[in-house]
Amino acid sequence: MFINRYTQLPSHFYSEVRPEVMQGAQLAFVNRALQQDLGLSLSDEALLGLLSGEQLQAGMLPIAHKYTGHQFGYYNPDLGDGRGMLLGQFTQSENAQKSSKNDQAWSNLASNTWDFHLKGAGRTPYSRRGDGRAVLRSSIRELLASEALFGLGVPTTRALGLATSFNPTERVWRETSEPRATILRLTPSHIRFGHFEWAASRGKADLQVLLNQVLNWHYPELKIAEHPAAALLKEVCHRTAKMIAAWQTVGFNHGVMNTDNMSILGETFDFGPYAFFDDFQIGYICNHSDDQGRYAYNEQPKIGLWNCQVLAHALKDLLTEAQVDEALTHYIETYNATYIQRMMAKIGCVTVLEHDKQFIGNLLVLMDQQRVDFNLFFRALAGGVGKDNEQLRGLLSQPHLFEDWFLDYQARLALENRTPSEIAATIFANSPAVYLRNYIAQEIIEAAEQGDFSLLEFWVPKLQKPFENYPELQAYQQPPKPQCKNIVLSCSS
Ligand code: AMP
Ligand code: MG
Ligand code: MG
Repeated sequence: MFINRYTQLPSHFYSEVRPEVMQGAQLAFVNRALQQDLGLSLSDEALLGLLSGEQLQAGMLPIAHKYTGHQFGYYNPDLGDGRGMLLGQFTQSENAQKSSKNDQAWSNLASNTWDFHLKGAGRTPYSRRGDGRAVLRSSIRELLASEALFGLGVPTTRALGLATSFNPTERVWRETSEPRATILRLTPSHIRFGHFEWAASRGKADLQVLLNQVLNWHYPELKIAEHPAAALLKEVCHRTAKMIAAWQTVGFNHGVMNTDNMSILGETFDFGPYAFFDDFQIGYICNHSDDQGRYAYNEQPKIGLWNCQVLAHALKDLLTEAQVDEALTHYIETYNATYIQRMMAKIGCVTVLEHDKQFIGNLLVLMDQQRVDFNLFFRALAGGVGKDNEQLRGLLSQPHLFEDWFLDYQARLALENRTPSEIAATIFANSPAVYLRNYIAQEIIEAAEQGDFSLLEFWVPKLQKPFENYPELQAYQQPPKPQCKNIVLSCSS
């Protein structure tokens, strides 16, 4: 059932490794929905065997990838999987493929081959001075974010399961001593932009080998293109632009958009100090070690382009300048078109008209000035903008400053020619009922650190289906209390 096809690359692309067994490991979460979508028949015992590193499955061969990358704008030649190991790939049966392919064009569920990556598996040749381990706090945060983004329809890696240990010998030192944990990260590809940077630094032969394998594995339809390298660059630009437009409109700040954290599939990858907005703040910086705000919320689209430029540079021996220009222009066009279309949907519109960009810009300025709750504002718009919409007015510190925008909004809605209930349905399909706020993640983490995994069990299925109605979650559909907002989290993982 498992293979490790990365060994088809030359051996300097990876190192063979062994997980450091996690003593006293217990299962904290199993992603039943993902298991079912993939048609995976691993027992909980088998899953725990993988998560603890104690018992691999037949055919697995753990490796750590070598890659390089630009971190905070500077090239670092000294990177690689330092605390994660690629155990191998699982190939879905044909039956499971058929059932999961329905309407999944925007999701990695359309793939039939999945990497199993054990994050927190222990030291590798690329660990440098790190311990190769992950803590329970950051592992839960990765699990929650990947499942929440999946639920929102944003391309992302997935988390199949989480294990932890409260064994004193397994404690990990960050700012303080914390329980160790591992997750199984699943995605059709662990190839990062940084893999291409590494290959390019070795020379054209290695670059060509990597390109050919990436095309074989992930983009077979591009192999017949006249210029496969150009076709790949353009497609990655396309996917990255769509992903980042989606981040902007669901209120997600990634926080560490280094090129070694950019997936060649255009999926959200490597979760660190990310945040979903509470109050809208255009220049929000979730990463407290990002002093310059390089990865601030409003910088993300530009950084996505910068990262695509780095990828283009890595591929330059296989491309003409015109091909690079075309791909990067395509990024900009795709981002702009996707972003405005998604923002208009958040306010209930299914068309995009000439002045909409300005109209949305005006709204964001107001929301930023008044620090309006990002998710609740859009949902409240479904109730209309009249004085009787107490829910909406209650979210605004100075409602009178919104009056002009509300008039423009009503005029704009009139051009849509749709009923109020159709408009409301579009709004609710684009701003979820269940939204992963930092304080919710914090409650889940604190319970788990006490050995209580029931909140994880409770929240993950809801995050996976965030557009359904959950009457029992009324309390979470209010603006968070001031002490629950802008919680400062440790960025270490
Ligand atoms: P990240 O910020 O998670 O993308 O990590 C950047 C680099 O540091 C990657 O090469 C990681 O593998 C490595 N790294 C991060 N944390 C650890 C750790 N605890 N032990 C070893 N390597 C680590
Ligand atoms: Mg090797
Ligand atoms: Mg990383």
